[in-house]
Amino acid sequence: MAYKHTKYIFVTGGVTSSLGKGLTAAALGALLEARGLNVTIVKMDPYINVDPGTMNPFQHGEVFVTDDGAETDLDLGHYERFVSITTTRRNNFTAGQVYEAVINKERRGEYLGGTVQVIPHITNEIKERALAASEGRDVAIIEVGGTVGDIESLPFMEAARQLRFDVGHENAIFVHLTLVPYIAAAGELKTKPTQHSVKSLLEIGIQPDIIVCRTDRPLSNEIKRKISLFCNVPPKRVITAEDQASIYALPIALHDEGLDDQVVEALSIWCRAPNLTPWEEVVQNTARPNDEVEVVIAGKYVDLVESYKSLNEALKHGGLKNRCRVKIEYLDSELLESGDAQARAALERADAILVPGGFGQRGIEGKIEAVRFAREHRTPFFGICLGMQCAVIEYARHVLGLEDAASEEFDKDSKNLVIHLMEAQKVVINKGGTMRLGAYEARLTAGSWVHQAYGERVISERHRHRYEFNNAYREQLYEKGMRATGVNPELDLVEVVEVADHPWFVGVQFHPEYKSRPLKPHPLFAGFIGAALAYRKSRTGQAAPAGGALQA
Ligand code: GLN
Repeated sequence: MAYKHTKYIFVTGGVTSSLGKGLTAAALGALLEARGLNVTIVKMDPYINVDPGTMNPFQHGEVFVTDDGAETDLDLGHYERFVSITTTRRNNFTAGQVYEAVINKERRGEYLGGTVQVIPHITNEIKERALAASEGRDVAIIEVGGTVGDIESLPFMEAARQLRFDVGHENAIFVHLTLVPYIAAAGELKTKPTQHSVKSLLEIGIQPDIIVCRTDRPLSNEIKRKISLFCNVPPKRVITAEDQASIYALPIALHDEGLDDQVVEALSIWCRAPNLTPWEEVVQNTARPNDEVEVVIAGKYVDLVESYKSLNEALKHGGLKNRCRVKIEYLDSELLESGDAQARAALERADAILVPGGFGQRGIEGKIEAVRFAREHRTPFFGICLGMQCAVIEYARHVLGLEDAASEEFDKDSKNLVIHLMEAQKVVINKGGTMRLGAYEARLTAGSWVHQAYGERVISERHRHRYEFNNAYREQLYEKGMRATGVNPELDLVEVVEVADHPWFVGVQFHPEYKSRPLKPHPLFAGFIGAALAYRKSRTGQAAPAGGALQA
């Protein structure tokens, strides 16, 4: 069953959720890749949803879309940002998928005569999926979602326990992430929660090999010895994971604590010391920027940064490329509808305005207002997916004079549906996984701003939408200065619009943020932040504003 040469690292979490298991797995992946190993990372999610695509972003955070069109956990975004892999639908599976597969097999009669049970049928399905996703890699890091002690994560823990037995202890280890809280009243770091969570792991037959302790201050040797004593792990394998100012400092911080040394030793992997120069540069760039810009994001999900995880990171990457700190301000677009003075002031202050992807009508008019402000004030503007659709509506209304211009998503009765439902979507009834998802090509207009940014005529980006630019309006918009400069060749679907008479005004139907990495910032985000910087300098009298976006 096992693939002979792959080494497995299971990452489990204890004490509480939100300790950064995904980031820890990703940072460990970065360290092992920097040692020359071929690494993949897999996330097993214990919830019953088939995928997170049907969950509210408030509940779950961002839905991360893979090239092959899977709607997955946002941790996959961390994996792609820290390790040079391109994940696929195999890198994330849920209890829902596992049960669905087992029940379908049962209905087909594949277990005929047998009683279908959690052990071995569900656990076998989990193991098969984990192994298939790891195939051909030197190392597979497998993150087990949830916290030790959760009822729903038990089958996954059990599958991991069995898998270690199947592949041999020398080929699989457990890294357990816990919390070591500082209790101010006692003036002490407390190890008891860690002890308890390791006991819970032991109850289900799992002895962790390495314990990573999330903490707000370094663990003393005494604390490490204490954890070692109670948890049967040598002190050198008790690792401090102190809070970092930037997530990109994590690989180096964990390396300094010896995490990757301990992992390769425990797995008997012979490899070179890691080359961490690229990560050191990222950390230095982040800590010592030359400039700062403020980007206002006008959206609906303003309470949770998690809802726009990849977008946040991509903006930071754009900052790295320009040696500039990016201050992000979330603006509830509904406030713009009610004429809120502070919201208006935020737009006036902004060095750049971004309208992100989204669904549903709430806040739409405010988003359109944000586009209008950016267009009229020549503030750099970036519209992503729904943001691009808002840009088209705004232009049609206020430049073409089509006052009722709208998207079919919000106003089916409008006579000017400049954004309408895609043909292929008209027959779709089910909600899960039915949008236009994943990577599609766009052909870019020679000389357009996006062509210059990418340096290529044909690009591939990831999508997640049901509605599209209505080609019936393409010519009118072109005549008045909004140009379709990226088009999908198969569907003639508009992927990019630019406004000619504006320093930087770009709308894209796809989600470029999914493909941006700290070591390889996305060209559109680099360009957007570059334009923000130029705009800021022009306002403070430091330099002239950037020229027209469209050369052709
Ligand atoms: N709601 C829009 C659509 O379905 C935009 C989707 C998005 O922004 N991801 O087309």
